Amino acid sequence: MPSASGLRFRVVGSGSSGNATLVEAAGTRLLIDAGLGPRELAERLQSLGVDPASLEAIVLSHEHNDHAKGAASFSRKWGVKLIGTRGTYSAAGFGAVEIASYQVLEPDVPFQVGALELRGIPIPHDAAAPVAFVLSHGGASLGHATDLGHLNRAVLDGFRGLDALLIESNYDSEMLRNGPYPWSLKERILSPRGHLSNADVARYLGQGLGESCRTVVLAHLSQKNNHPEVARMSAESALARRGRTEVQLEVSSREGTGWLELALEPEPAAAVPRQMRLF
Ligand SMILES: [Zn+2]
Ligand SMILES: [Zn+2]
Repeated sequence: MPSASGLRFRVVGSGSSGNATLVEAAGTRLLIDAGLGPRELAERLQSLGVDPASLEAIVLSHEHNDHAKGAASFSRKWGVKLIGTRGTYSAAGFGAVEIASYQVLEPDVPFQVGALELRGIPIPHDAAAPVAFVLSHGGASLGHATDLGHLNRAVLDGFRGLDALLIESNYDSEMLRNGPYPWSLKERILSPRGHLSNADVARYLGQGLGESCRTVVLAHLSQKNNHPEVARMSAESALARRGRTEVQLEVSSREGTGWLELALEPEPAAAVPRQMRLF
């Protein structure tokens, strides 16, 4: 039987109206991104029984509004430190506003936030210095990647051995091409520094997803260029083709998901017969 790792997460906002993911382990709570207005974000946390001031940090993936809009005011009001790259700090203009504090995240260098170990992985997106994250606790790890134009080598390597994955499934290519956006914006989204499509995610689930990964959350779905059922079917059939029907697949709504707990697989029993041969 898989046992609980103590690491759990839930999306509290997803998509262009604002992104935030709550992660908890052994009494440590943090948010990845604060793209909702500060009041809205505090209310959503409070409705989950989470005191906003109890957050250890807000870790930022990049400076775009839908990820960082509420960060400065929330940090100031609730005394929560921000963590992000130097590029995010400059591009978000945190030097010009009052915030509790800012801790610089060096990409590829692991750091600790309470009981959680984190690592930022540089990703291709049209922002100053955007990162995806691997968060680990108690032998379990969660990968978190929103806003990236393609899955670069650094992410593919960094995401090996995950137990759970949150990944953006931003658009359906047909819906985007035929949709209402001006061509310049379509080009930006489609570019290698734009966003991941349902097909990009399906390809990864079909070929790259590690065997240990049991939970996949599709997030940051475009309201105009995607539909939750279209994204789900695309991911589901990719997993089914690979025989990975044990994977729990969630599609986040704009309001988020429920709690998702990371389980640990028991150690393989192979060591026992080998040891018995000694006698
Ligand atoms: Zn975004
Ligand atoms: Zn972005």
